Amino acid sequence: MSLDEIAREVKRCTQCPLHRNRKNAVPGEGNPKTEILFIGEGPGQNEDLQGKPFVGEAGKFLEEMLASIGLKREDIFITNVVKCRPPNNRDPLEEEVDVCTRNYLYKQIKEIKPKLIVTLGRHSMRVFFPQIRSISSVHGKAYKKAGQVYLILYHPAAALYQRSLGEQMKEDFKQIPEILKQISG
Ligand code: URA
Repeated sequence: MSLDEIAREVKRCTQCPLHRNRKNAVPGEGNPKTEILFIGEGPGQNEDLQGKPFVGEAGKFLEEMLASIGLKREDIFITNVVKCRPPNNRDPLEEEVDVCTRNYLYKQIKEIKPKLIVTLGRHSMRVFFPQIRSISSVHGKAYKKAGQVYLILYHPAAALYQRSLGEQMKEDFKQIPEILKQISG
């Protein structure tokens, strides 16, 4: 299934209760041939209104960090664990995450075949590393699992609220070019 086909399915999806409150589903967007896939948690209010990922304050911060390593958002692909906004920005429920990742996220990964998956925040981290309890001990670290390399980062929204996390995130981000170089050998 192509990325466009996946996006079309996301937009008409009714497989979990999150579809009831959405204005727009947010399949994700970016360069389908990218080496790096960023995965956030789920759409917030701005994303729900525009149907695009990371278009609010957290998105601005993400764009700043991308610029710091010479990348634009068009260079990468950005999506989320769940494609519809949880009401009042609550955490997505386990069932919602299960259904959405099985139907869409894993298919997007298969299609993009990124060299590096960057998880943003603990919900995204837990999709791939359910055994890790605390993001504070693993952020900024690269992991290889079943042939796929992952980098675990804090969520840019958390970094906006807590200045020290923002500084840490900028540091962690700098590893991306180095990790890519190592993967490419
Ligand atoms: N936070 C997320 O996790 N994803 C978005 O798309 C926007 C904010």
